Amino acid sequence: PTDVNKLADEYLRLAYHGLRAKDKSFNAELLTRFSENLPTIEVVPQDVGRVLLNLFTNAFYATQQKVKQGDPKFKPVVEVATLLKRGMIEIFVRDNGTGIPEHIKDKIMQPFFTTKPTGEGTGLGLSLSYDIIVKGHNGKIDVQSKEGEYTEFMISLPLSAKNS
Ligand code: ADP
Ligand code: MG
Repeated sequence: PTDVNKLADEYLRLAYHGLRAKDKSFNAELLTRFSENLPTIEVVPQDVGRVLLNLFTNAFYATQQKVKQGDPKFKPVVEVATLLKRGMIEIFVRDNGTGIPEHIKDKIMQPFFTTKPTGEGTGLGLSLSYDIIVKGHNGKIDVQSKEGEYTEFMISLPLSAKNS
């Protein structure tokens, strides 16, 4: 049984401190809004953790790219929230970074699709996440984004999720 709030909190901090170890100038506000009545679910924590780690890493990267655009008023924020809704646990990961351009939205889940320079991205994170969440746990991944403004990924996991 996995406590998703605890898992998300741990991996958010792991991703943040991992990035800061490489780039001391990196800074972001971390926000958490965890549902208080979330039941535990039967998942392999490392699998869901790996999905979260990629979502957080992507989110931080997107805010970093926006920092590089040089607007002194821009403050990077990455937020994670959980919700219990209709027999599903929903996890939201939101950033106020570069956003996803409309014309690549339907490609981001494809294996090896990346907009990052060689060495910074493999393009495997979201396709692996799709396999773990959708194929492995009967869940869903959705994304909403506005270029230049924000990106929000939502993962839903059925309470009865079993690993196949
Ligand atoms: P990678 O991170 O190695 O590029 P992913 O599968 O994790 O591979 O992501 C694929 C692509 O989706 C990224 O290269 C980027 O273009 C886009 N993307 C994913 N998350 C975000 C985000 N939070 N903000 C902006 N673009 C994103
Ligand atoms: Mg990635």
